[in-house]
Amino acid sequence: MVNKANAELGVIGGSGFYSFLDDVTEIQVDTPYGAPSDSLFLGEIAGRRVAFLPRHGRGHHLPPHRINYRANLWALRSVGVRQVLGPCAVGGLRPEYGPGTLLVPDQLVDRTKSRVGTYFDGLPLPGGTVPNVVHVSLADPYCPTGRAAALKAARGRDWEPVDGGTLVVVEGPRFSTRAESLWHRAQGWSVVGMTGHPEAALARELELCYTSMTLVTDLDAGAETGEGVSHDEVLRVFAANVDRLRGVLFDTVAALPADGDRDCPCAGALGGMEPGFALP
Ligand SMILES: [Zn+2]
Repeated sequence: MVNKANAELGVIGGSGFYSFLDDVTEIQVDTPYGAPSDSLFLGEIAGRRVAFLPRHGRGHHLPPHRINYRANLWALRSVGVRQVLGPCAVGGLRPEYGPGTLLVPDQLVDRTKSRVGTYFDGLPLPGGTVPNVVHVSLADPYCPTGRAAALKAARGRDWEPVDGGTLVVVEGPRFSTRAESLWHRAQGWSVVGMTGHPEAALARELELCYTSMTLVTDLDAGAETGEGVSHDEVLRVFAANVDRLRGVLFDTVAALPADGDRDCPCAGALGGMEPGFALP
């Protein structure tokens, strides 16, 4: 029998991804780090149990720097999720990555400032457990299996994706200055967003697979000659692409391996190191 309070796959993204699914179960999950951004919405896609979590909360009330990323990843794992898809809107840093581009990054640069990016901070949890100091590898921040599935899913829907590239994550909520944007581009980075970190790093610490899928909604300030990014433009392009992005997500979900069949490095990210607390 299907346990409706359980899921094996997680999607961190807005309500556009689950609101029309049949038979969605809403559950509230608490964590040692406080409440996640919202309830988890559990449904089924292609026979797989999927938990959706609105990253910014329903109504989009949480700015990127105030999202409780630790609670979000913890909550997903606690209901059984082992593989996470993290679609997000980004700015393109190169003219060829215009609005509507789907880029599946293979690298990440953290330029955030105020976010807690680890579970291994040495501070006691509410029950008194003190996490150990553990250093995980984030050399390759994304799950290779998840990336391959996402790329194949996009191609299957005639949406040729950009395979690889670097996502630079800024603090926000403001957009970049023209000088910042030109600097990001000069580094050879591909797209800029506000939520990809610390999601990927926290997922790794919990031995979760994490796959980023970025939808370019605008050219960043240094990559175009107009007035720079506006929030209205971002929303307009995202709305125009959410249907096909949902299609790619669902096909990716259907193609991901069952938990017991994960053969990527993510599942053993701690390498036997003792976290000092029980993974949820
Ligand atoms: Zn993996």
